[in-house]
Amino acid sequence: QPTTSPLLYLDGVSVSFDGFRALNDLSLVIEAGEMRAIIGPNGAGKTTMMDVITGKTRPDEGIVLFQGDTDLTHLDETDIAELGIGRKFQRPTVFESHTVWDNLELALKAPRGPFATLVHRTDVEERARIDALLQTIRLTEKSSEVAANLSHGQKQWLEIGMLLAQAPKLLLVDEPAAGMTDAETEQTAILLKEIAKTKSVVVVEHDMAFVRDLGVKVTVLHEGSVLAEGSLDHVSANPRVVEVYLGR
Ligand code: ADP
Repeated sequence: QPTTSPLLYLDGVSVSFDGFRALNDLSLVIEAGEMRAIIGPNGAGKTTMMDVITGKTRPDEGIVLFQGDTDLTHLDETDIAELGIGRKFQRPTVFESHTVWDNLELALKAPRGPFATLVHRTDVEERARIDALLQTIRLTEKSSEVAANLSHGQKQWLEIGMLLAQAPKLLLVDEPAAGMTDAETEQTAILLKEIAKTKSVVVVEHDMAFVRDLGVKVTVLHEGSVLAEGSLDHVSANPRVVEVYLGR
């Protein structure tokens, strides 16, 4: 019997929309401390998979175990977030009129309720955490800048920092490199690799150069199930993977 269970374990997960199988007997294992890239053509089921993990969509069949024994398929989105699963959507949703610091402070205090920032003074410990987050996302110099003045890439990093403020165990990230400059894309790969030192990260991504930068195990989804898994070199040498990407 294994001594440690995977952080996330999907088995036999199926989801249908009006008879169409968006996920079809999907199985996936993410270990604690692992970063995984999920790729696959449009319509492969990547978004639906993220929706199932975060409780936005309830699967028709299958189990989604978190930390060994909690079946997420019975929980709602709020409970799942509280268990330690954070999700970063493609478009950044920072508070544009607030400073970078205030955005992080709001995120840090969010679990205490919407008025926490007004009611509670930020203590020394919280300030130190915000400083550390600023360093992680490389925005220390932009701390008192209003978020609206940040570049697209910087906004994405700020939102990642806001998610980290909630101390998730698993971070789900949807196409972080979309719309970024090459320099920002490289910086994002570095940031995600740093984050993956202390938590698990699942990245859905279309940009293959970025996936190469990440240098992690890749899962190829196709028609709602896993088509191939392994290093990017391994999966891109698979004729079936080549076919679904090029042969349509
Ligand atoms: P991907 O993210 O890999 O592009 P999706 O998970 O978004 O794939 O979609 C998988 C399939 O499920 C697509 O064919 C899509 O049209 C369909 N689908 C996704 N969400 C819904 C929904 N809410 N209602 C109906 N069909 C959906």
